[in-house]
Amino acid sequence: MKISNFREALRHIPAIHVLIQDPSMEAFAALMGRNTVLTSLRRGTEQLKASILSDPEYYRNHKIETSEDLFDHLMDLVLSLLEKQRLFALQPVINATGVVLHTNLGRAPLSQETLKQVMEVSTGYSNLEYDLDFGKRGSRYDHMEELLCRLTGAEAAMVVNNNAGAVFLCLNTFAKDKEVIVSRGEQVEIGGSFRVPEIIKESGCILKEVGTTNKTKCSDYEEAITENTSILLKVHTSNYKIIGFTSSVSLAEISIPEDRADILCMEDLGSGCLTDLSLFDLPREKTPMDSLKEGADLVTFSGDKLLGGAQAGIILGKRSLVEKIKKNHLARILRCDKMTIAALHSVLQIYDASEDPVSQIPSLTMLCEKIEVLEAKAKRLRQRVEEAGIESAALELLDVEEEAGGGSLPGVVLQGKAVALVSQTISPDDLRNRLRRSLNPIVCRISEDRVLFHVRTIREEEFDIIATELKKCWEAKP
Ligand SMILES: *Cc1c(COP(=O)(O)O)cnc(C)c1O
Repeated sequence: MKISNFREALRHIPAIHVLIQDPSMEAFAALMGRNTVLTSLRRGTEQLKASILSDPEYYRNHKIETSEDLFDHLMDLVLSLLEKQRLFALQPVINATGVVLHTNLGRAPLSQETLKQVMEVSTGYSNLEYDLDFGKRGSRYDHMEELLCRLTGAEAAMVVNNNAGAVFLCLNTFAKDKEVIVSRGEQVEIGGSFRVPEIIKESGCILKEVGTTNKTKCSDYEEAITENTSILLKVHTSNYKIIGFTSSVSLAEISIPEDRADILCMEDLGSGCLTDLSLFDLPREKTPMDSLKEGADLVTFSGDKLLGGAQAGIILGKRSLVEKIKKNHLARILRCDKMTIAALHSVLQIYDASEDPVSQIPSLTMLCEKIEVLEAKAKRLRQRVEEAGIESAALELLDVEEEAGGGSLPGVVLQGKAVALVSQTISPDDLRNRLRRSLNPIVCRISEDRVLFHVRTIREEEFDIIATELKKCWEAKP
């Protein structure tokens, strides 16, 4: 029907119940729920009405000549509203970067087994803070303590929201208004928001730097000790390596005056690897067990780096110290919730019970994957993409270098395999952007004008989605 003035435009705005039947709306309803789509339809309709009322030339300026044009125009408006909402919502993403512990993409993925435990604990009630034995109030810290102690040999353990929180809490409990000695070579920054000097300051402590960037000796620590010293802190240089003319010392080598038993040795390990990765041709990472053996009084690490669990910060140490940390009022602010506890508990149980934890913890499986397995996987992905209708000339199998990511295994290069794609019609940047913004977002890298799909971090069940999304981009006009 023809539209020849703004009143007609207003009158022909379609009703919500008609709009919702459009196939594109159905796709969004499946993804985001019918109510979200209805809300966007109402909002879009209101916006269009307001625009037409405030500007009688609006329909002409937007080349709306018929009621069909008006329908399409409104649909575009609603789609962009939905698109915006979707982009800000937390949603699954396909990680084709090959970086296993990608902090921006959620670090360690969890197994179905682990998720089952999270479901069981969180769809109903749980004994989160309830002692089933005595029928009285219990502590959320109890659930994992025994397991953590058994796995690491620590006297006591505690789990908080993340490792930054764990470091903060330890410093704040024992070194408020006192000095914390750290080597200049260990002033680490992780992902912009965790900086050792800042965390020391924010926890109310005084930073005392010793040594130089490349060399710190025992005597540097020993000479820096004053009566106001409270903690000697070692920080794992998680995301960089100092090479060349270097030296650093372990906590075991530093001698603390005999009358200063109050000075604590603390190590922020970052990754918290609980298994020997050298069995899989990776360098052996220092473990929490190593730190404790060296004499650390307190050790902290993340739950979702090389441990492969949920976001959490784990504190290990002497019983008397951990009890004191639990009593710090700030612990309440940093406590983790039942879903985290359930997830982490499940992963720790795998370490405890399994002969081969690497095969049951997804992030470790990916990190330790053999090159032959990756090659076969890449071939299957290439074949799947070809079957979807992408010409084989555009596809290549590449050897690629990867990293563990997330502040783990610094300097370690992993050999991987990728499927590379070159399009004659779409630029690599354009293709990458489209894949990232698609209904099933895919995050990939570009190298030498090719879009790469690193198979290490792609799950087999994601191959079909990749093939379908690629096909859509392939056929779309540039
Ligand atoms: C990653 C890391 C942190 C921060 O851990 P989150 O769990 O991300 O808070 C702190 N220290 C070191 C050495 C790290 O590697």
